[in-house]
Amino acid sequence: MLAKRYIGKKLVDNIFVTSKKAKQAIKEFGKENVVNATIGSLYNEEEKLAVYDVVESVYRNLPPEDLYAYATNVIGEDDYLEEVIKVVFYDDYKEVLKGMYIASIATTGGTGALSNTIKNYMDTGDKVLLPNWMWGTYKNIVIENGGKIETYQLFDNKGNFNFEDFKNKVLELAKVQKNVVLIINEPSHNPTGFRMTYEEWVNLMDFFKSIKDTNVIVIRDVAYFEYDDRSEEETKKIRRLLVGLPKNILFMYAFSLSKSLSIYGMRIGAQIAISSDEEVIQEFKDALPFSCRTTWSNVPRGGMRLFTTIMKDPELKANFLKEKQSYMNLLKERAEIFLKEAKEENLEVLPYKSGFFVTIPIGETVDKVIEELENKNIFIIKFDTGIRIGLCSVPKRKIEGLARKIKEAINKFSKQ
Ligand code: PLP
Repeated sequence: MLAKRYIGKKLVDNIFVTSKKAKQAIKEFGKENVVNATIGSLYNEEEKLAVYDVVESVYRNLPPEDLYAYATNVIGEDDYLEEVIKVVFYDDYKEVLKGMYIASIATTGGTGALSNTIKNYMDTGDKVLLPNWMWGTYKNIVIENGGKIETYQLFDNKGNFNFEDFKNKVLELAKVQKNVVLIINEPSHNPTGFRMTYEEWVNLMDFFKSIKDTNVIVIRDVAYFEYDDRSEEETKKIRRLLVGLPKNILFMYAFSLSKSLSIYGMRIGAQIAISSDEEVIQEFKDALPFSCRTTWSNVPRGGMRLFTTIMKDPELKANFLKEKQSYMNLLKERAEIFLKEAKEENLEVLPYKSGFFVTIPIGETVDKVIEELENKNIFIIKFDTGIRIGLCSVPKRKIEGLARKIKEAINKFSKQ
């Protein structure tokens, strides 16, 4: 019955499946006896979804027409489109990014931003370049749109960004494709918490600037950027590197309010396109709304209003930043407990800098290790041949001792 291009597709969402098992175990053994590290949303120490007070009070007080009416434009509310640019590039972006053309479009979360970009910039049959450690949905988006997957090794043997492999893969694709679409998920990378240094960014941007005759569409997935503890000064320095990009390089920021405001179910995000070429941005403004209209039409107005109300009011914004800082402190404390214990146990952890997750590379015994942990009521997510721990959702008291239990499970199978 299915159209030919849809035959053979089946969504296997490992995260939802494992999280169901964890919920079942909680019913059977009680909450305190189960570690549910499967969840990718921020939870407080009482294991409840973190809800920002400022978000809750602003949203509840929005006028009904803002909650129930269509958005004003297919591409989103005007002030929302401006505020998302300011959040990613700061208030002085017009001055600092002089000479660059920038436009934004509201999307259904970061997922909408990623899929709308791949749909519009990847030619059918082409390969999209993804990191080997990655959020699995990237692959599904590429496949859904008739593309194929190529991966670059995210880390070199010192745990730094593997620039050599990345560069070689881009150059290989550039030999045979007119457009090379690629994803860099940074900062607070899912599933490892990796981020690049300023020097690594300089290197990368110099490389992009050296590419001729091929269009490179760099999707920078910034879904977790609000939970990056890099200084504002450093973020601003990285922003400046965009100035002077040649016109064949388009940067597309995939922005999400799911994590930023902890409003996952509201489905609000944005694509922010930046280029030194006016025509490239005009093309973005012309073609992409077409796709918005034919898929989600427009995104919830209430979510956009919520964001702009907070961002445009200095007091509300200050409240938001204060609350966010307290959650960042909590994430940091959780990460410190885990990383300290992992070190004591000699447990290898992929390079973590900030964000919601840490990942332990395991290798071919990964399924056995997962089974062993599940038998002990510890639920984690398999990512390739590693396991991801959602620091975002596990309270500190349950993180204590976790590294040792994981190490024991790994040892049990490595000795055989
Ligand atoms: N990018 C990454 C790396 C993610 O982990 C997620 C969600 O888990 C998203 C993007 C998209 O999130 P959403 O569509 O809820 O904004």
